[in-house]
Amino acid sequence: MVEITVELGSRSYPIEIGPGLLATIGERVKTLRPTRIVIVTNTTVAPLYLAAVETSCQSVAPVSSVVLPDGESYKTFTAVQQVLDGLVAAGADRKSLIIALGGGVVGDISGFAASIWMRGIRFVQVPTTLLAQVDSSVGGKTGVNLPAGKNLIGCFHQPSAVFADTETLETLPAREISAGLGEIVKHGLLGDAAYFDEVERRMKDLRSLDHEALASVIAGSCRLKASVVARDETEEGIRATLNLGHTFGHAIEKLAGFGTWLHGEAVGCGLVLAADLSRRLGYLTDADVSRIESVVSAAGLPVRIPGLPLEAAIQSMRGDKKSFGGHIRFIVLKKIGESAIQEVPDTILRETLLQGGYV
Ligand code: NAD
Ligand code: MG
Repeated sequence: MVEITVELGSRSYPIEIGPGLLATIGERVKTLRPTRIVIVTNTTVAPLYLAAVETSCQSVAPVSSVVLPDGESYKTFTAVQQVLDGLVAAGADRKSLIIALGGGVVGDISGFAASIWMRGIRFVQVPTTLLAQVDSSVGGKTGVNLPAGKNLIGCFHQPSAVFADTETLETLPAREISAGLGEIVKHGLLGDAAYFDEVERRMKDLRSLDHEALASVIAGSCRLKASVVARDETEEGIRATLNLGHTFGHAIEKLAGFGTWLHGEAVGCGLVLAADLSRRLGYLTDADVSRIESVVSAAGLPVRIPGLPLEAAIQSMRGDKKSFGGHIRFIVLKKIGESAIQEVPDTILRETLLQGGYV
């Protein structure tokens, strides 16, 4: 087992990573002395893992559960209401604890519900997708979607702990594993070169769910994210670098129609585009770019996007949260392990997009 701390002063919390954690959640949350425990999960995860977590928590406090429908389309106020109704039914108070058991969707909804119930109660993340274990469970962003757009409402509410049981990944579809690897490769590119080397070297072990490799690489990813969050909790500056590959990724997701690409797939492809852009700006070498492309491809992710409309992509990127006054700002790589945020001339952007398969 590996343990990391997210350093946020009095709100610091541990991330524990390893196989077999589910059965020990009860003893791990005992120190929080909750009056009640409400486990929030969904219809896919409940039959797999709910009983294990319930059983382990029973000696700590009265336990109940809320089982949400599965899917990004249910990441709405309605789901939050369902969690709040569950808290009422459980007789929850200000000392009660929510346990979010599932992927990023369950985590984001549960964290948001925890942040508003009685003006904020504690919650614990038990992420069961690779993406949630390396990304969404760490850092305290919570929220839901509106018809007008993804994650438009929410707030920062840090969990009290994160328990990532790598055994839960055994039931996750291979495509979801690859999507999680997309964010891991991103962390590799942002972190130090040694971590990127490890991700590159152990890609096969990761895809075959070798628990030692998973725990080590997930820990490296969480360490990177934790250090960024500790320096910039509410994204005033450096936290924006975690969007490497995402300006492209969001455009891909949107133009292909949301749901066609998994987010991590679009990010993988976006990383290759960001690498190409960084080369055209004079930062990365040809060898760096082909190395990055090989790693993304080895993760089982697409590296080209044949047939996406170029002008529509540029238009959509102008609306990105990082862009101001029509100028598109990108996270670029100065080298592997070092990023920067900057505006990019349209001519260079077009060259990159054409190279990436846009038409
Ligand atoms: P998800 O939560 O939809 O999970 C993917 C699928 O896997 C779902 O069908 C889920 O039910 C299923 N599943 C979960 N665990 C499983 C398991 N162990 N075995 C079998 N199936 C399992 O998607 P995700 O990729 O985990 O998360 C994406 C969400 O996370 C998005 O809503 C995104 O906005 C959010 N997100 C949030 C942050 C943040 O900082 N809060 C960061 C990144 C992403
Ligand atoms: Mg992402």
